[in-house]
Order: sequence, then C-alpha cells, then structure tokens
Amino acid sequence: ITKIGVLTSGGDAPGMNAAIRGVTRYAIQKGLAVEGIVRGYEGLLSHETMPLNRRDVGEIIHRGGTMLRTARCLEFLETDTQKKALDYLHKLEIDALVVIGGDGSMRGAQALSRLGMPTVTIPGTIDNDMMGTQYTVGFDTSVNTVLESVNKIRDTAFSHDRVAVIEVMGRHAGFIALHAGMASGAEAVLVPEHPVDLQSLCEHLAESHRMKKMSSIVVVAEGAAKGSDVVDYIRNHTYLEPNLTVLGYVQRGGSPSAYDAIIAGMFSQKAVDSLVAGTYNCVIGLINNLVVATPYTEAENLRFPIDENMYQLVHWLGR
Ligand code: ADP
Repeated sequence: ITKIGVLTSGGDAPGMNAAIRGVTRYAIQKGLAVEGIVRGYEGLLSHETMPLNRRDVGEIIHRGGTMLRTARCLEFLETDTQKKALDYLHKLEIDALVVIGGDGSMRGAQALSRLGMPTVTIPGTIDNDMMGTQYTVGFDTSVNTVLESVNKIRDTAFSHDRVAVIEVMGRHAGFIALHAGMASGAEAVLVPEHPVDLQSLCEHLAESHRMKKMSSIVVVAEGAAKGSDVVDYIRNHTYLEPNLTVLGYVQRGGSPSAYDAIIAGMFSQKAVDSLVAGTYNCVIGLINNLVVATPYTEAENLRFPIDENMYQLVHWLGR
C-alpha cells in the first residue's frame, strides 16, 4: 500500500486527535501518504478530504474533539451508499482506511472491508463499550472529568447534609458510572447491566444517614434510570433531600488524559503496522494490557463486560 485514509466517526472522544496525529505521523514514517476525510463517512459522500502531512497534525495531541470533525451518517447503512464511498476512496487512490470511532463506526468499516477496501478500526469512544477491546480511547479522560465534578458536588452535598444524584453517560454500558463511582467513593452506582432497585437504594441511603453519614453520592448511568426519576423516588420514599446533577456533554470534552494520549499513540502504531503487514479488517484493542489486532469476525465474540467485583466493591466500600 502507498496511501491510507483516516477518519473519525460517531461520537467524539478525547484522544481522537492524538490518534489522528499518531496514524498520520507513523504512516509517513513508514513511507505512506495520508488523506484525512472530514466528518466521518459523510465526508466520503460529500467529497471533503484533505492531505495530511506531519505539520498538519501539529498542536492537536492535547486537544479534545477531533480536527477532522465527525458525523453520524445514517445513509451509510445502505450498500449502495457504501459503494459510492468505495468509488471515491478508489478515486483518491486510497489503498486502506483507518477508522477512529465506536461500535457503529466499526460496523461501517467492516462494511467497506466486505466490499474490498482494507480497513482497521481504532476504538475511540468515552463509553468503553466496544467489542475486541478492554479499553477505548477517551474513557479515562471522561472518568476523570466525572470524578472532578463529583468532588465539587460532594462539597455541597456534605455541607447541606444531602444525597447527590449524578447522572452520567452510558446508554448501554455502565463503565463510566462504575469507574467514576468507584473513584469518587459513591454510596451506590446504577448501571444498565443490573436491574434498578430503588426501594433497596432508599433503605441503604436512610440506613447510612442513621449511621451519621453526612452525605451520599449516587452515580446513575443514563441507560439504567433517569436521574430525575431517582431523585423523585428518594424524595417520595425517604426523609432525605436529594439533588440532581446531569453532567451531559462536559463528559465528552477536554484535553485527553496522559493515559488516553498514550494509548491513542500505541493504537495508531498498531493500526498502521497491521495495514502494512496486510493483516487488515481488524479492530485494534487492549487485551490484558497488550495492544492487539483482532479480526472483526472474531471481535464479535469478544465482549468485555463491566467488572462485577468492582460493582460489589463500590457498594461495600461506600457504606
Ligand atoms: P459510534 O461509532 O460512536 O458507535 P454510531 O453508532 O452513531 O457511533 O455510528 C457512527 C456511524 O457509523 C453511523 O452514523 C453510520 O454512518 C456508521 N454505521 C453505524 N452502524 C453501521 C452499520 N451497521 N453499517 C454501516 N455503517 C454503520
């Protein structure tokens, strides 16, 4: 191969820029030319691309978001649209494509690879919920952002003797809620992987209060329950005063943490090395602390759920 394309797709995540930089500079190091595709798969249809050289990706490693922009492109689910994208990639003389994004973006990459375009996917999403990897770029930054916010909210909760309910992202997976809950010493975390039992939550909160706990933190993943419903339930079923913070998009932004920037660089190297070695159509991942490339077809059977022990432990330690 002599030329690769790179795009970011789906929800943006801190560290995507570090991955764009890593892919571009490592590919150039290996003698390849690099074309950046703007706004994900959308850019392949609207023909928005830009050649990337070393300097074009300068001063971005520390920035959140993605310099290539990102998009959700529903048309891309159709084979005809995928074929149009493929034609455009051929026209640009792109031999292989690096996709940086989440599960959906990986399916898009897989669709292109089925049509004959070699692809690799670099996991980039704050949710940490991708097949073929135990870690996705952006997760650590997001957990740290939630932790900082919880610590600020905790000051107020403590002073006012309150229960602070904090709703975080995670429609299908509770990684952010669990890890932020563990790190912040939450009383409870609610995750989509477990049935939500608000009655026993209230019993625990009331018991803690009786035992002179001055404030309680409850971290709720949006996919487990609506934060406002949790607050209403606590208010209606206990004498406690709950308040709600919905963190929203702050969780997606900001400079990547050291860990995210480092992993983005390592994933980038593995992605380019895989393409050069001809072992493409795979997802890059971290498995047992090793950076590996797993074929899409095998990755489908490689799902890493939340740590059940950590889930128990949060509740034991939070009392
Ligand atoms: P993420 O990559 O963060 O999971 P999405 O699920 O929104 O985000 O997917 C991003 C984009 O990937 C979609 O807008 C679409 O263009 C493409 N995509 C998602 N699923 C598929 C699929 N099954 N086939 C082809 N393309 C897909």
